[in-house]
Amino acid sequence: MRLVFIGPPGVGKGTQAVRLTDSLRVPHVSTGDILRQGMREGTAVGRKAREFVDAGKLVPDEVMGDLIAERLAKPDARDGFVLDGFPRTVAQISILDDVLGRLGVVLDRVFVLVAPEQEIVRRLGGRRVCPQNGEVYHVESHPPKSPGVCDSCGTALIQRPDDAEEVIRERLGVYAELTEPVASAYAERGLLVEIDGTGDPDAVFERLQQGLEEV
Ligand code: AMP
Repeated sequence: MRLVFIGPPGVGKGTQAVRLTDSLRVPHVSTGDILRQGMREGTAVGRKAREFVDAGKLVPDEVMGDLIAERLAKPDARDGFVLDGFPRTVAQISILDDVLGRLGVVLDRVFVLVAPEQEIVRRLGGRRVCPQNGEVYHVESHPPKSPGVCDSCGTALIQRPDDAEEVIRERLGVYAELTEPVASAYAERGLLVEIDGTGDPDAVFERLQQGLEEV
């Protein structure tokens, strides 16, 4: 199963993508996670990406194209993947088409998760992450066992620089302008399934599983 996940920042895309990959036994390919890991480790890609990620802007397509081609060519992605955060622009749709064409595979479905903007801002404002291992918490809906520290490694949790309020607004603007057209383009190809991302994660996951049956 080869799936793409689209949705505004904070809609719960990452959480749902992980649940789906666990149930389908395919890798979760999150371009945001790959970039953040590269930034933590100081890799060449991480150094190129930092200024864009921290400002809530998109990393240039040349960087993203190489990154996605390399990741999808790895053996664990041969029989399927859930792609989370790519493509994010109409130009990236062509990049993905090329990469998949070279691998001789096609997409099965594209899910777009939707939620009202005020819900998104609330979710992102409460998000906290572990700077050491990238684990994600939420002050209300998924708090750590001891306030402010990572359950796995005890590191003090931080707010992602791009979860600051003005950067959230920038990211939502980028989504509306550049990524919503991606959903429309996949709708024209008959691949898009829209999923209501409101409510608790179990309810959203149930809707997603129903959406999968349409594949
Ligand atoms: P995410 O975790 O998916 O919200 O991604 C965090 C940030 O990584 C975005 O705000 C962008 O700066 C960058 N990023 C992730 N995926 C892409 C992509 N496909 N194209 C360009 N930039 C990306």
